[in-house]
Amino acid sequence: MPSYKPQQLPPTASRPPSSEAIPVGFDPRDRVADSIPAYISYIDDQLRYIYINRPYEVTFNLPHDRIVGRPVAEVVGPEAFRTIGPNLLAALAGETRRLEPRVGPPEDERILSVDHIPDRDASGRVRGVIVYGHDITEIRRAEQALLKSEEHLRLALEATRSVGFWDWDVVNDLVYAGEPFARFYGVAPEVAEKGLKVGEFIRMIHPDDVERVGNEIQRTLAGHAEFSSEYRIMQHDGYFVWVLAVGRCTYDELGKPIRFPGVTVDITDRKRREEALLQSEKLAAVGRLANSIAHEINNPLEAVTNLIYLAREHAAVPVVQQYLEAADAELRRVSAIANQTLRFHKQSSQPQAITARELFSTVLALFEGRLRNSGIVIETSYRAQQAIVCFEGDVRQVLNNLMGNAIDAMDFGGHLIIRSHDAVDWATDRKGIVLTIADDGCGMSMEVVRNLFEPFFTTKGIEGTGLGMWVSKEVVDRHKGTLRVRSSQRPDYCGSVFRLFLPHQE
Ligand code: ADP
Ligand code: MG
Repeated sequence: MPSYKPQQLPPTASRPPSSEAIPVGFDPRDRVADSIPAYISYIDDQLRYIYINRPYEVTFNLPHDRIVGRPVAEVVGPEAFRTIGPNLLAALAGETRRLEPRVGPPEDERILSVDHIPDRDASGRVRGVIVYGHDITEIRRAEQALLKSEEHLRLALEATRSVGFWDWDVVNDLVYAGEPFARFYGVAPEVAEKGLKVGEFIRMIHPDDVERVGNEIQRTLAGHAEFSSEYRIMQHDGYFVWVLAVGRCTYDELGKPIRFPGVTVDITDRKRREEALLQSEKLAAVGRLANSIAHEINNPLEAVTNLIYLAREHAAVPVVQQYLEAADAELRRVSAIANQTLRFHKQSSQPQAITARELFSTVLALFEGRLRNSGIVIETSYRAQQAIVCFEGDVRQVLNNLMGNAIDAMDFGGHLIIRSHDAVDWATDRKGIVLTIADDGCGMSMEVVRNLFEPFFTTKGIEGTGLGMWVSKEVVDRHKGTLRVRSSQRPDYCGSVFRLFLPHQE
């Protein structure tokens, strides 16, 4: 067995002497000050250099022997002294100040932290300033990087706020879920975290979707690992949210499902937009239908107009003359409407030049019937001089909707004000025309104004589609115009003003 021998360390006193002996007058403080990675200088109360350490000498290229005793202002020059001077003076007044200057060439710029520390004598009087600086470039860089990655983390977290994670322990039938998932289903987050039977979630699915989703889940459990389904979840307020749920099931060696985790995201906005698009396509189809009906009406209409003309020529009895005249007037009205309808849906692929007066008058004609007995007074003022180049069918749609809304808002008569004038958009300096449609009807609450351009937002119940303003916004955007609204519900001053700016083309 090898014997154990403790290792022998030489006692300190017996270490061999260094080749150079410590010289007389050696001050270890100088050695310390020169070997730490810091810039140190001492400046007296006359703002003269008294001492600089070695790193200071090297970094700022100021040889110690040449600068000691000289005024700082002279050594660093007037430019640099403008920043340094006030800090030295502040330190002499007893205040500690810190500067973070950037030094060196741009490709190797360093950031320093420089403290100006008052040095007091035994009586407490400040007799000089200790300037202590060190390089904090790496610290600042690390901080920047940290900030950046924190920002990324924050963004990532924000993005996941609308993503609901779930993990279904199929064997014990417990669904563990995070906060957003619980929110979709109206379940308290504490409850969802501890796990709930899957049935608790399934019963919240919209009755029209629940069977389909049930089948899709069954299919996944039976061995088709991938799960992906879009469905609605009922909310307590009677509304529902649309979600997309994607998951993947794992099985044991006998093929029995064990776990079924996944994510659920809110896709309500996308679904609404799809529906809105479908609706507006339907509207377009109705428009085309109206158009062809108008076409069909036009021909017999002309024939009847001619027949009435002939009948009037030959009717001897005055009262028959009167009836025929009335019939003729009504027919002209029908004919005008048919004509307008035709023009209304005239779809052109190229924008056309049209005056504001023309745009307004064709739309107004469509409301003639509604306006006649409504007690609404129409005030028009057409001051726009130039024609505007636009997709006139689309712009008519917008005006039609704005006028329709204005008339809807005036239950017991009122004023419908229609104006046009040349204008410059102050925000972008573009020239164009402004079409104004104003009413002194019921006005809108803040809540309504906020939701005005949302698809399906309507206060008219079954009468409204809630698509008018949404479609209008889209048309206005396409023309690079703006649509601004002001509205008031003050009893003595109620109504709404819609101001549509359309720019002239460059
Ligand atoms: P709809 O007319 O089918 O309701 P819109 O998108 O055209 O849909 O308008 C949305 C809602 O904006 C209306 O239901 C109404 O509440 C409000 N609104 C629009 N214009 C006016 C107006 N001139 N005065 C009062 N409310 C208005
Ligand atoms: Mg409308």
